[in-house]
Amino acid sequence: MQELTHYVNGEKVAGTSGRFADVLNPATGEVQAKVPLATKAEMDAVIAKAAEAQVGWAATNPQKRARVMMKFGQLINEHMDTLAELVAREHGKTLPDARGDVQRGLEVVEVCMGTPSLLKGEFTDSGGPGIDLYSMRQPLGVVAGITPFNFPAMIPLWKMAPALSCGNAMILKPSERVPSTSLYLAELLKEAGLPDGVLQVVNGDKEAVDAILDNETIQAVGFVGSTPIAQYIYGRAATNGKRAQCFGGAKNHMLIMPDADLDKAADALVGAGFGAAGERCMAISVAVPVGKETADGLIERLLPRIEKLKVGPYTAGEDIDYGPVITAQAKARIEGLIDSGVEQGAKLLTDGRGLTLQGYENGYFVGPTLFDNVTAEMDIYKEEVFGPVLSTVRMDNYEDALNLVKDNAYGNGTAIYTADGDTARDFANRVNVGMVGINFPIPVPLSYHTFGGWKKSAFGDLNQYGPDAFRFYTRTKTVTQRWFSGIKEGGEFNFKAMD
Ligand code: NAD
Repeated sequence: MQELTHYVNGEKVAGTSGRFADVLNPATGEVQAKVPLATKAEMDAVIAKAAEAQVGWAATNPQKRARVMMKFGQLINEHMDTLAELVAREHGKTLPDARGDVQRGLEVVEVCMGTPSLLKGEFTDSGGPGIDLYSMRQPLGVVAGITPFNFPAMIPLWKMAPALSCGNAMILKPSERVPSTSLYLAELLKEAGLPDGVLQVVNGDKEAVDAILDNETIQAVGFVGSTPIAQYIYGRAATNGKRAQCFGGAKNHMLIMPDADLDKAADALVGAGFGAAGERCMAISVAVPVGKETADGLIERLLPRIEKLKVGPYTAGEDIDYGPVITAQAKARIEGLIDSGVEQGAKLLTDGRGLTLQGYENGYFVGPTLFDNVTAEMDIYKEEVFGPVLSTVRMDNYEDALNLVKDNAYGNGTAIYTADGDTARDFANRVNVGMVGINFPIPVPLSYHTFGGWKKSAFGDLNQYGPDAFRFYTRTKTVTQRWFSGIKEGGEFNFKAMD
């Protein structure tokens, strides 16, 4: 049995707590490694070391820090296959999807290669007589990243690349279900030239997280995970005087208007609803066709596409559409929510419950599930399912469909399929959701924009990556300066008349 480690001061360090979590192979249910769970004492010691290392790193000029990111980006490209394999092995997603996970993280590293420009301050010449003002962005010190299981490469990279580029040290606490990718990325960063101690990867569970939240040295916390934990971490971090941005769960709707191309909408829904087994915070989990004809036409097109989907382990080849969900508990929870949908009167059109695959009988596979006639009162609509389940909520008109999205507790992503620019524009302007797709199913913004939801999908200020990350991971200091007139011409020896 492989025993994983932490990554501290540039080395793999064994855990000392004696507590471990199982790292599973979700396709077989086998335990493939054990990951140590850090104690508060271990965490506090690691944070103290990071604080020492941060001083020299903050004093390293931004261009040199950016060069570390350049080398890091090159190494990620060189090791893309290894990273994708690590992601797939612990998460269960397909290899092409795992490469996408690494790629979307790499793109944030690429933006960080422009750190000197992004950190440039502001200057006002002669704001008053002989008075100039300038503002500079300074690193916070030691910051923390706490990340979820569903993007083992992308989200740790979203956290570490901007935080480090700004001159901070970072404590990364990855999900204990998928720790290996973060450990590997830390090794690549060392090879890229990051000084020891500037990135510390500490594995753990609630004890380690609480130690971060209560440690006075930690200046900011960037969290991604489920809404209840996001809210908890935001509250505790803020109470302890830390800057915090905590991104939570989602329930993403796609409106399908009567003038939409239904074949394109159905193709998009199948990918956005079932890709990565629905374990994406930007997955579309609710289809909202407007009008009976649209709804009937959409369902008619979805069914044959869903029947063709191939579910299996990532090792079964690249034509697999999606893999298992993360744990037996996740599978049981998803199947329980499907049960509740049936009990509460939704129409089950394809049933993914009870799927077993030959040779993988203990894997956590759930088949693609499609519901029709779901209503806003049902649990299958209200809860984040985080599985391969697509609910159809039929609406009679555009305003009702828009209001359904607006009244939902979450506000991460949404999409509209239509041929009418005016409707699309109205939707984008009025919807209270952070990321909007127009004829685009999963509108994860590119790395030079920023990512963030509204409502219960995010707590705290500013978004992840892009210019917002450079604001989140720095403090602004503004200097107002005046220099009194000095001697410019050499000494004066003669009496002068008073001016
Ligand atoms: P999770 O909330 O269970 O875990 C996230 C992190 O919090 C992990 O590192 C975990 O160790 C830690 N954690 C768990 N329980 C804790 C507790 N009681 N106290 C302190 N720390 C705790 O989330 P998950 O299951 O790993 O990830 C899936 C969730 O993440 C989904 O809800 C998904 O929508 C969300 N997500 C959101 C975004 C976004 O940007 N909004 C992106 C990806 C995933």
